[in-house]
Amino acid sequence: MSTTPPLPPAPALLLRYGELTLKGLNQDQFISRLRRNILRQTSTIAPVRVERLYNRMLVFPEQRTEQIARKLQHVFGLKSISPVWIAPPTPEAILPLARAVFLDALESYRGTPDVGSRVVTCRVETTRADKRFPIPSNVFDRQVGEHALANVANIQVRLDDPELTLGIDIRAEGAYLFARRLPGAAGLPLGSSGRGLCLLSGGIDSPVAAWMMMKRGMWMSFVTFHSYPYIGEPSKQKVLALARNLSKWQPNSRTYVVPFSACQEAIRDGAPESYRTVLYRRMMQRIASKLARAHDIDALVTGESLGQVASQTIENMTCIAAASELPVLRPLVGYDKDDTILLARKIGTFDTSSRQEPDCCTVFMPEKPVIHGDLELCTKFEDALPVSALVDAACAGVELVDFEAEV
Ligand code: ATP
Ligand code: MG
Repeated sequence: MSTTPPLPPAPALLLRYGELTLKGLNQDQFISRLRRNILRQTSTIAPVRVERLYNRMLVFPEQRTEQIARKLQHVFGLKSISPVWIAPPTPEAILPLARAVFLDALESYRGTPDVGSRVVTCRVETTRADKRFPIPSNVFDRQVGEHALANVANIQVRLDDPELTLGIDIRAEGAYLFARRLPGAAGLPLGSSGRGLCLLSGGIDSPVAAWMMMKRGMWMSFVTFHSYPYIGEPSKQKVLALARNLSKWQPNSRTYVVPFSACQEAIRDGAPESYRTVLYRRMMQRIASKLARAHDIDALVTGESLGQVASQTIENMTCIAAASELPVLRPLVGYDKDDTILLARKIGTFDTSSRQEPDCCTVFMPEKPVIHGDLELCTKFEDALPVSALVDAACAGVELVDFEAEV
């Protein structure tokens, strides 16, 4: 039998949408946004051309295709990404390319742990959108199988859940062949669900909360409260490092660093000790709301999880959110800490979050924080404080830190 010529690099990447396909009439808007996000998030690697195909997209990178593919795994709205080869839609053109694509995928799969030279299960899966192609899909599957898999050692055809699938998508304009599927980040394109402001501490939870809302299409900015001189520069740098970690998923972002010590001193001096933490948090909500309104942001996002600590009982969360002028989204509210940690590792924020640095909430920490806070008491205590002057001064002292995309 003839030898198979070496496979050239894949000329394109085939992208499959996730939930996008459910969006009915809005689909076009979502897809144009996804297209813009793809262009933006890959722009630091290499120029790409994007072509829309039926319910998929093709990306043609000028170079560095593998790196572009890995970057696309961080673009929300994509279910999977496959390097793809293109042949004229005729059996004679498809057969030799199918074998080359299959052998290439098999070789790289054998390089993954625990595979080596053992038997690998595989199948061919043809879809024929262009019925002018003369051979029915299931018949062509077998023909390709006989050709592409002929004389290959240690493989076995399995139709149900094989390890490798050689996909052949036959369209009028060409046949697309692929065998690797890189998982995408799923979700919805960034920017398709408005804008959020995440209250970002240096902890494990809030970066994960930001990421979850980004995944649902919310463009994210960050606000962090910093109590200089009680809390040092490393705590602030840690939060900025987290915002930078997240720029892997969102090409650029803004962080508002708010000076918070005057608010904490006023609460220490003018309100009962046990209410300090809840009152700090209410001040944070007010300041964040004011910044959000001034910058056209639709909602606040926090990393709160029900019952995780004293400030996160249902009563205290109610007292805290009541100070916000905007909806407060808490994507982790029903999460266990272990679930959050798993996700923090997956998205790449865990190591930064694990650096031991104090948060401003530890400043003047009460011995016995209130567990079941009362909203009427909160407002009564605040009547004795210059709340709006404190909010205005904090907003006036904000420092802005912008990040550009990480490659
Ligand atoms: P995290 O791990 O995100 O710090 P946590 O479980 O430690 O969360 P808390 O410290 O009670 O919880 O904070 C609850 C939420 O309040 C945080 O998830 C975050 O959204 C917000 N928050 C707390 N401290 C700050 C801060 N210094 N700056 C900005 N937001 C903060
Ligand atoms: Mg915290």
